[in-house]
Amino acid sequence: MKRATKIVSLGRDKKWTKGVINPPVVRASTVVFDSLEHLAKATAGRGKGELFYGRRGTDTHFALQAAIAELEGGVGTALYPSGAAAISGALLSFLKSGDHLLMVDSAYEPTRDLCDKLLAGLGIETTYYDPMIGAEIANLIRPNTKVLYLESPGSITMEVQDVPTLCQIAHQHGLVAMLDNTWSSPINCRPFELGVDISIQAATKYIVGHSDVMMGTATANEQHWEQLRENSYLLGQCVSADDAYLALRGLRTLGVRMAQQEKNALEIAHWLETRPEVDHIRHPAFPSCPGHEFFKRDYLGSNGLFSFVLKTGNRQAMKAFVEGMQHFKMGFSWGGYESLIVAEFGVDKIRTVTHWDSSKPMFRLHIGLEDTEDLIADLEAAFARYHEALSN
Ligand SMILES: *Cc1c(COP(=O)(O)O)cnc(C)c1O
Repeated sequence: MKRATKIVSLGRDKKWTKGVINPPVVRASTVVFDSLEHLAKATAGRGKGELFYGRRGTDTHFALQAAIAELEGGVGTALYPSGAAAISGALLSFLKSGDHLLMVDSAYEPTRDLCDKLLAGLGIETTYYDPMIGAEIANLIRPNTKVLYLESPGSITMEVQDVPTLCQIAHQHGLVAMLDNTWSSPINCRPFELGVDISIQAATKYIVGHSDVMMGTATANEQHWEQLRENSYLLGQCVSADDAYLALRGLRTLGVRMAQQEKNALEIAHWLETRPEVDHIRHPAFPSCPGHEFFKRDYLGSNGLFSFVLKTGNRQAMKAFVEGMQHFKMGFSWGGYESLIVAEFGVDKIRTVTHWDSSKPMFRLHIGLEDTEDLIADLEAAFARYHEALSN
């Protein structure tokens, strides 16, 4: 099956849909059994797609789990109430007190907070590494290192990692390789073919796609699925059937949304590159982005998210740039159909082993499904406000 066909078809088995197109919303806590035999069968099959108890999922959840697992290329998917919960759930499934974690320096800020606060308190030590470290990651591995965590491209600064090399070295040392694969969604990267053991998605972003549900997924290969699934259960993680339904509904149009948002974003990024104020673009498809060669080698496409850096400016000029936008809204959770802008002030504060120069203004854009002419006009007006603020 080709990708577009998969997006439309996966998870639509008749045992879940009961003959209609989308699986019904099956809300449940308790499940009632007809006999001891029935109960015994359900108990044996719990966590394996058998209806047993609401927290273990219903047809709505099973359909979503099957679709994501197959799209990502793993064997099983655990659902979590947010992307952040999927990250903590995956890490806590494979780390215990006394263990050591290798975390990419360009990780999503709440992931860093989890390491520095909660994991540190449990006696799990984190070492941050340069996203562009490549094979030299081997030098940071200790006898008690258990997990190598990647996020590619990195948050805000967009460094693309050499995923296959990092995973290969992780496996040589018996580590579990985890990837925050949110940027690619389940369709623009084949994480398990690159050697990843656990692929994490903030489904909140492109899978849901309409900025109205919080959800996370963690998908594992054969070797790690049982441990991930059992631990997500022990942590009590589950999502509502209504949210699972919305995520499945969002998923069905993922292919066309991503293709259009990728096209729109590339057009706007190329326009920005021609602006004299712009220092450089941080978009994996641009040679100015660290790891661009890995993007070309390992990824099937990009999306609506990228950053750009200006040559000069100050806080007042940045404020003038982002305030007064007509179409770009100021907000964080990208992956919806709408365009967003964020002024990035303190990136240097969320990097500890790599250097970031925060003196140059930086903005992150998420390009939605609006007409690019309107979006470019919005950015042109922003540059005019920026110049006015600079000259005051
Ligand atoms: C948004 C995001 C998350 C967290 O997802 P939530 O659903 O908001 O908790 C994790 N990783 C990345 C890369 C994200 O962009």
